[in-house]
Amino acid sequence: MRAIDTYQLRTCLGCFGTGVTVVTVDAEDGRRGLTVNAFTSVSLEPPLVLISINKRARSHDTLAGRPFAVNVLSSDQERLARHFAGDHQDIELPWEEGQVAPRLGGAIALMECRPWGSYEGGDHTLYLGEVVALSYRHGDALGYFRSRFVRLSEPALVASPHTHDPFELPYDAYE
Ligand SMILES: Cc1cc2nc3c(=O)[nH]c(=O)nc-3n(C[C@H](O)[C@H](O)[C@H](O)COP(=O)(O)OP(=O)(O)OC[C@H]3O[C@@H](n4cnc5c(N)ncnc54)[C@H](O)[C@@H]3O)c2cc1C
Repeated sequence: MRAIDTYQLRTCLGCFGTGVTVVTVDAEDGRRGLTVNAFTSVSLEPPLVLISINKRARSHDTLAGRPFAVNVLSSDQERLARHFAGDHQDIELPWEEGQVAPRLGGAIALMECRPWGSYEGGDHTLYLGEVVALSYRHGDALGYFRSRFVRLSEPALVASPHTHDPFELPYDAYE
């Protein structure tokens, strides 16, 4: 079989459209963030999520054994995504204090996690976090598809007496 070409693998993986998150963590020298789209749900009981982090990322070692927050970006936060991917933007960063990790204001969803486990994944490490606090709200999400940022528009809810809108009120497990 032919060896897999890295460029073609990246291009192929780019066909899988995703949301965009910024993972935030308290490092020894202050808050740190990095843009991550290799984020997925793992388990409901216990509540686990996963992020896959390049071993060459500065935040890679910082994340080992530390609580982190997954900030799911809204469609108007593209510049935040670019900034935390290393493309410096002259913007004010909406840092907020979380329960176990720093977080970013304006995200459409947020999960704060305690470290649960980490697994070897080639040139990446898979960090699993146990969700200990969460919030979400209405809004369009930022997406990433074929190396481009896109808007993921919120679907309209078809109103009926039986329709339950879980986003009717912003949910905040902090309250
Ligand atoms: C759409 C997208 C998805 C990605 N998905 C992944 C992924 O799933 N996994 C992965 O490993 N990489 C992913 N990356 C690449 C990753 O975001 C970059 O490689 C990132 O720069 C690596 O960050 P780092 O830990 O090396 O941190 P740095 O390069 O140190 O930080 C990233 C940027 O954030 C800024 N920054 C960090 N903390 C602060 C702060 N406190 N105040 C101000 N600025 C700060 C830095 O100045 C730097 O410009 C993705 C990139 C994009 C664009």
